[in-house]
Amino acid sequence: MREVEIDAVPLDRLAALLEPERIERLSEYAARARDLLEGRTVWSVNATATGGGVAEMLQALLAYSRGAGVDARWLVLDGTPTFFGLTKRIHNVLHGSPGDGGPLGEEERATYEGVLAKNLKQLLRFVRPDDVVLLHDPQTAGLVPGVQAAGAHVVWRSHIGRDTPTDLTDVGWAFLRPYVEQAEAVIFSRGAYVPAWVDQNKVWVIPPSLDPFTAKNGDIPPGDVEAVLRHAGLTVTTERHGRFLFTRRDGSTGLVRPHAGLIEGGHPVPGHARVVLQVSRWDRLKDMAGVLAGFADHLPHLPDDVQLMLVGPETAGVTDDPEGAEVFEECKELRLQLPEESRRRIHLCSLPMDDGDENAYLVNALQRYATVVVQKSLIEGFGLTVTEPMWKGKPVIASRVGGIQDQIIDGESGLLLDDPTDLDSFGAALDRLLGDVALAAKLGENARERVRNHYLGDRHLMQYVDLFEQLYR
Ligand code: UDP
Repeated sequence: MREVEIDAVPLDRLAALLEPERIERLSEYAARARDLLEGRTVWSVNATATGGGVAEMLQALLAYSRGAGVDARWLVLDGTPTFFGLTKRIHNVLHGSPGDGGPLGEEERATYEGVLAKNLKQLLRFVRPDDVVLLHDPQTAGLVPGVQAAGAHVVWRSHIGRDTPTDLTDVGWAFLRPYVEQAEAVIFSRGAYVPAWVDQNKVWVIPPSLDPFTAKNGDIPPGDVEAVLRHAGLTVTTERHGRFLFTRRDGSTGLVRPHAGLIEGGHPVPGHARVVLQVSRWDRLKDMAGVLAGFADHLPHLPDDVQLMLVGPETAGVTDDPEGAEVFEECKELRLQLPEESRRRIHLCSLPMDDGDENAYLVNALQRYATVVVQKSLIEGFGLTVTEPMWKGKPVIASRVGGIQDQIIDGESGLLLDDPTDLDSFGAALDRLLGDVALAAKLGENARERVRNHYLGDRHLMQYVDLFEQLYR
């Protein structure tokens, strides 16, 4: 188990974006949190410090918490490839997807508990009785009993879920239930995700949020957006060369490395193109392959200047997501089977992961550059990859699944696909947005407003304070 250092960020930073009453309310909550948590630490424990929505949110929320005077700290657990293979299996079945189809029996439980027993030992060197420990996702659930026994308040949070249970989700929950049941409170992103056996009195529904000031979401001067992408080798939009700086979480600056992005087949997106973009981890449930297939099918109907970019993290060396490389290979294969004229309009891009903020900055530039952003997930707990382009005022086409149904109001702040596997309706949604600039702009504008009203950190932090008050009551 290792600690991730977090710098404090003052809550006032949000003041530029929020009405004064909202900031005042947040300050009141911060004062309550300081009083309540005086002399106590709030620990967050998850499986990775980089990559994915959970790490993204922890970075932001913990920094604001520290800025508000709360001792919030972050620990990342250690696991073996077998452990992460197993937790990925649990992740998949909780979404109702078989994943690798492997078992979740006694042997797997022994592996799971063995790895977590080692982590618990290390965790208890940090945690004191009466601290709060927030455990995130299936990888950490097995820590609940040990943390509880040590006298700390333990909360388990699931960032995943599925609206309708299936036999598979039952299998996943049966695996986790003995641990989760012992938590003092349990958090889900949507009410519909809560399994029937969870004690309703312990349930909190807290949707995720984004931080508008990170390398991922902060403003980029419009002229730089194209230039950054060209510099990173992703597009050939302008002839401008330069040094492109991004600001890291710790306030230091980094330089975008030339040709940081890798494009499969090596052909960057041409300058005149309108880009349809999906940014995701290479996870089957994100359906990158389905976006590719749907776009390829629809190409004959699309204007010549429209191109697709499927963007995800470099898969080499990612330990907590063993499926990534496989899914990326599948997409490569699919693309290779297309005729040359389709291939040159479909781009698979990998972004470097060794500097998380450089990766984030490139995602930011891509989301700002895109004409339409897609999230055609088959299942989605809550998609930060939906909230992020919405915050950037982009029209989003996304599946009517899971948390996305809360994030987008269909026809008002984006377009929802009733059936993400129906490629015709995906094509029709592309036609609608690419053919109607005014509609696209209106949806984008409403999208930004929706994020401002529902998915920024102030709401999220205040919900946590309400929860902590209940724990210490
Ligand atoms: N992401 C990223 N670089 C990538 C791919 C994804 O930074 O190459 C980020 C993306 O911008 C978002 C997060 O990873 O912030 C994914 O969160 P989401 O909630 O959409 O899905 P999850 O990965 O947690 O299932």
